[in-house]
Amino acid sequence: MPELLTADRIEEIGSLGVNSPDPAPLIAELVGAVDEGRVADPADTGYALLVAADILEQAGDLADALTLATRAIAEQPDEDAYARSVRGGLLLRLGRSDEGMAELTALRPLLETNPNATYLVDELADAGHAELAMGWLTEALDAILARTRNQQHESEDAQDEAAAMIYGLAQRRHNLREEMGLPHDEYDNLADRLRAASDHALDALDDGPATLLFWPQTEFTALLLRWPTLADSYPATWDEHRAQIERALVDASRMGGADLGVAVGTVADLAAFADSEGSDPTDEETQDEYADSLTGSDLRAWPPGRNDACWCGSGTKYKKCCLPRSRG
Ligand SMILES: [Zn+2]
Ligand SMILES: [Zn+2]
Repeated sequence: MPELLTADRIEEIGSLGVNSPDPAPLIAELVGAVDEGRVADPADTGYALLVAADILEQAGDLADALTLATRAIAEQPDEDAYARSVRGGLLLRLGRSDEGMAELTALRPLLETNPNATYLVDELADAGHAELAMGWLTEALDAILARTRNQQHESEDAQDEAAAMIYGLAQRRHNLREEMGLPHDEYDNLADRLRAASDHALDALDDGPATLLFWPQTEFTALLLRWPTLADSYPATWDEHRAQIERALVDASRMGGADLGVAVGTVADLAAFADSEGSDPTDEETQDEYADSLTGSDLRAWPPGRNDACWCGSGTKYKKCCLPRSRG
């Protein structure tokens, strides 16, 4: 049997590739598996190629990174928005401005419909077009705000969605202007008010769990071995566990949640906690109380910076690890 390239291994290669003095074998492993049809889950083909492209990009080989990003688009044409955005950024950095702008401009409408699409703006800003990036954010905000003013009979879902978009765009714009050293304008004040309001809302509610219980990979396995009935309330794989937590946190933040984070559990700790409380460790309430009892280094703030280590402990950058998982 030929060896299959799993999502875990792709991710591991991604973290090994950061500042690796000799990334060639890592690239060869990723691209070789794609060439030979050995990607365990075909849906990860684009992911493997984009990780390889990212390693090349960090090593300064923009031309080869571009080739792989282009191939990622061809391999998975149905979910190509993120790959196209990466390709657009690479083209800009290679000085192929017209093509890069065309690629990113084609994706620009996503800024008004997809709360994750601010990755477009990151590509623009990273390629030295911060001014333009800010213009796109401003115009997306203008458009969504105009739409919500004109459609007062929208469904509650549509209103929630618009509120989430406005929140995300305003915060991204606020941070970008801060990086550019610009003073607060009207939308920055809106961003500050929205952030303050969501902090208050969360304080007042105090019922939604702002901190979610997360099991590192080895603990997740140990948990299900020790209490097999938990298989009913947890997903089958650790990847899905991470993805669920990421999605829950994204949802919480869209609903205005702030001070979000994960509490990192261990099986031995949960057993001891349940013992001391005289409660059942497999009970959901016990696990919530256990999560609330965790402090200090057992708590990790969410979200990390895009280029910071992921909250799940994989060692990979957040933007290459759990951030894209929430889009799946
Ligand atoms: Zn501010
Ligand atoms: Zn992660």
